[in-house]
Amino acid sequence: MRIAVFSTKPYDRAFLDRAAPVHGHAPTYLEPRLDRDTARLAEGFPAVCAFVNDTLDAEVLTRLAAGGTKIVALRAAGYNNVDLEAAARLGLVVVRVPAYSPHAVAEFTVGLLLALDRRIPRAWSRVRDNNFALDGLLGHDLHGKTVGVVGTGRIGALVAKCLALGFGCRVLAHDRYEVAELKAAGVEYVDVETLIAASDVITLHCPLTPRTRHIIGAAAIERAKPGVILINTSRGALIDAEAVIAGLKSGKIGAVGLDVYEQEADLFFEDLSNEIIQDDVFQRLLTFPNVLITGHQAFFTEEALTAIAETTMANIAEEAAGRASPNRVVAEGVRGKG
Ligand code: NAD
Repeated sequence: MRIAVFSTKPYDRAFLDRAAPVHGHAPTYLEPRLDRDTARLAEGFPAVCAFVNDTLDAEVLTRLAAGGTKIVALRAAGYNNVDLEAAARLGLVVVRVPAYSPHAVAEFTVGLLLALDRRIPRAWSRVRDNNFALDGLLGHDLHGKTVGVVGTGRIGALVAKCLALGFGCRVLAHDRYEVAELKAAGVEYVDVETLIAASDVITLHCPLTPRTRHIIGAAAIERAKPGVILINTSRGALIDAEAVIAGLKSGKIGAVGLDVYEQEADLFFEDLSNEIIQDDVFQRLLTFPNVLITGHQAFFTEEALTAIAETTMANIAEEAAGRASPNRVVAEGVRGKG
């Protein structure tokens, strides 16, 4: 099947090129992000492959459907950027990669927490300058600390397990589904208010939905422990960045580690080192010594990209053959999904 693949980088091509022939697909790689202006590039392509910061709102989906597209294949787990109701109305099938490597993201989350709290990037740049002073590099033992894990799906469960069993943290979790294996490992499920009030570290692993948008905002920060460390490797809009800046300025928040940012679509995945960044909130975040930001790279491992490419191509092959892929995503009203 002919596939228009948006937002492609050389590393995407390398992995997709390996998987595509196995399923008889012919991908056409397009560098631009998918949006209202670029949707016309997909004209005549029965399948479109999109990534996390592509726009798949009703307008874009209408343009894709008018151009003959039948299948929208997300090479990602999250689908908050897709208007699923519009897709259903237009007869577009949406498929995704629900679990390419939860380990990639979980391991990165713990790495981000350690790098942030133990000031590893700061230490690295000092040592390169022959500055071996330790002032300003003081961290905490994770052992014995209380970590709140919001969302114990594939990724959150691995993070919770690693911190409980590996580091000896007390782990509080919040999710509407409780995982027996985590409870057996000592993880305690609590309501979100208790989690926020009792945690030294809060790490977010729930999807972005209208209910979870700005789950960490001014009110949550107010309720949190002084010195709380916030980690977000899930979706940027789970955090109200302006409220976080206020919490950092007042000293209420101890440190923040982010792999995602609400307005990341204008920034991430591009080399903007010669540009003047217009996002003042993002720029302000970068000025804090106790903030560590990476550009949505938690998924970026050899294993994850191999799995993403393989599952994406298999999803399209299933749908092209007239079979419903197990990785179809449908709107809440059509079938419940967390
Ligand atoms: P998942 O669907 O397996 O787990 C999400 C969990 O969140 C589910 O158990 C669900 O019940 C729970 N949940 C839903 N609403 C909740 C709420 N209001 N409060 C608490 N929990 C709630 O998803 P996953 O594979 O573990 O991925 C988690 C998130 O990580 C995804 O939403 C995705 O956006 C993000 N992600 C980021 C990267 C990255 O590179 N940074 C890569 C992959 C996924």
